[in-house]
Amino acid sequence: MKQIRWVNAQLHNHTVHSDGKATVPEMVEALANRGAELIALTDHNSVSGHPQLLPACREKGVHGLRGIEVTTFYGHVLGLGVKEYIDWRGYSPECPEKICRDIRKLGGLAGLAHPIRIGYPAVTGCAWLYHISDYDAFDYIEILNTSDFQFCRNDLAIELWINRLRAGNTHLAAVSGLDYHARPWHGKETVTWLGMDSGIADPESAALDAIRSQRAIVCKDSLIRIEVRDSYRNRQLPGSRFSGTAQELLLDTAGKENLTVVLWDQNGSQILGTAKPSMPLPRIEQFLVVALYRGVPDVLNLEAISNPFFPDCTRGGNHPVCNN
Ligand SMILES: [Zn+2]
Ligand SMILES: [Zn+2]
Repeated sequence: MKQIRWVNAQLHNHTVHSDGKATVPEMVEALANRGAELIALTDHNSVSGHPQLLPACREKGVHGLRGIEVTTFYGHVLGLGVKEYIDWRGYSPECPEKICRDIRKLGGLAGLAHPIRIGYPAVTGCAWLYHISDYDAFDYIEILNTSDFQFCRNDLAIELWINRLRAGNTHLAAVSGLDYHARPWHGKETVTWLGMDSGIADPESAALDAIRSQRAIVCKDSLIRIEVRDSYRNRQLPGSRFSGTAQELLLDTAGKENLTVVLWDQNGSQILGTAKPSMPLPRIEQFLVVALYRGVPDVLNLEAISNPFFPDCTRGGNHPVCNN
């Protein structure tokens, strides 16, 4: 039985090694001070800050995760776990999958950064202009990017992710990114809580494993626990592929009250009601994503969104979403 520890992670951050204003130790200090326990460094087309990251993190008692944001004229792809420079100049507009393959070759996870964002005249090059023919090339989608909040259509990014799950790209994890550049805080920031396996001693590997396993919940700030009880009475975490149906939703809202629960599955979405510690679930088709909102279900009111649960997923079966 795995021992899972939920870790407050910030997975998309810049420093003076690209266009951020903070040095690596300043960035680590700023994020650690607002609760981050795992801090990634993803400078644009640069890994020159890497040597400073782990020592700066050790100093603050947090974990570091080395990475890069491959930044091209047609869009940005995050490479978490990449420890080497990737030459961004050779990528053609037809094939973003090549960037993902290069990231994976270096042991990283490929993430579609701020998929729906304005480019020019806000920030040239930030819009996603590639055609993606194979979403399986990506490991995750940044469903919430809170850097320039007004320039990102995070609602459409969530919709994109759900639609990809429905289309069969069921391995795609969902995370959020501060896209930290040392600008002032604006109150719309979010946290990715990663369910890290305590059995993996190296925190960088444990963080990548959590994302790869979709063991993550994106929250406004403190952790809102979202679990499912299956028909065998087992508790399941986000990312779980399990046999048996999803019977009951188990919520720990960290003291937050009057949250509206919304469910997505293969066929549609529905409001389940006001969050309670235990809520019976309707029949779920193929996957379940759970979101909690303050009042009206609008992305600006989002308090938490889970990665998918996969019920009825029996080993050796021919379930459409089962990778076993
Ligand atoms: Zn970017
Ligand atoms: Zn960025």
